[in-house]
Amino acid sequence: MGIATDNSTGPGSERAADRAAGPAAGPAGAARPAALSPSRAADFMRCPLLYRFRVIDKLPEKPSAAATRGTVVHAVLERLFDAPAAERTAGRAKGLVPGEWEKLLAARPELAELFLGEDGERDGERLARWLANAERLVERWFTLEDPTRLEPADRELYVETVLEGGGAGEAGLTLRGFIDRVDVAPSGEVRIVDYKTGKAPAPQYRSDALFQMTFYALVMWRLRGQVPRRLQLVYLGSGDVLTYDPTEAELLAVERRLRALWEAISLATETGDWRPRPTKLCGWCDHQAVCPEFGGTPPPYPLPVPAQRASDVDADADTDAGAGAGADGRVVADGEGQGRMDPV
Ligand code: SF4
Repeated sequence: MGIATDNSTGPGSERAADRAAGPAAGPAGAARPAALSPSRAADFMRCPLLYRFRVIDKLPEKPSAAATRGTVVHAVLERLFDAPAAERTAGRAKGLVPGEWEKLLAARPELAELFLGEDGERDGERLARWLANAERLVERWFTLEDPTRLEPADRELYVETVLEGGGAGEAGLTLRGFIDRVDVAPSGEVRIVDYKTGKAPAPQYRSDALFQMTFYALVMWRLRGQVPRRLQLVYLGSGDVLTYDPTEAELLAVERRLRALWEAISLATETGDWRPRPTKLCGWCDHQAVCPEFGGTPPPYPLPVPAQRASDVDADADTDAGAGAGADGRVVADGEGQGRMDPV
């Protein structure tokens, strides 16, 4: 493919991608959506009401052992590149796991509850199993990529760009997120890499997995003026590497889809009409108690809604919020894709 740093040869390499994660818990006051990240876009496509609970109400969510493990594993894979190439061994990487967990715990003490026994005391055995599992995932990475042959151009790269408005006076759409790793070949070709601690999706769900990666590819294209040569997903849970080489035309289609999605989000924000969209993924949702689909009542909508506009809203809004936005795909849920806890 012409990217010198490419040595991904895991079984099942093919087109695809996505990551899932939960936002950090904690009330922070209601706010209008200001930007779109892959995770939150996926939330809206999965269920508009879930998006509202996470982005506008900022309802707290229980820590997830899977997402927390994802965060620790991502940190290890990032930190490992601090070492000289020859010292990037599986043993060294596994040895980083406990320290990265301790650092994360210090930053987010509430994660300790993941490892409490029924008596409220720390369950050391459960923590040990969880750490061992994280170490196995880290070890599997070495069967998929060879970090002694990689010199990433960027790790944990925060990216943000604004898609200008479609017409005079229209506000732009801010896209942002974190890219796990960016490799740049001597030829200048760019590869975007994302780690997943879950398993590779079944073929019918791979377009959903691709969504996040094409989102990043679009942002990078806008920022650097160059379409990334390759998008690569590394699934540590199943030992698969999935790759996809995007084209300009495909990224333009992604841009149109994101604009439509943002329009749907803006309409829902303005009207306060956030429809629940129940699926089997509701099992992963922390908000069933306040979801009408499960007999709950959402908290009062915290943003002002023009009375006239609110009464105008009808069933069309459901279409606008989903299919009208091109939101036609299933999106992997927390604990399925197991990216990490996503701060954006
Ligand atoms: S329980 Fe299901 S329908 Fe209700 S908010 Fe959560 S994801 Fe949406």
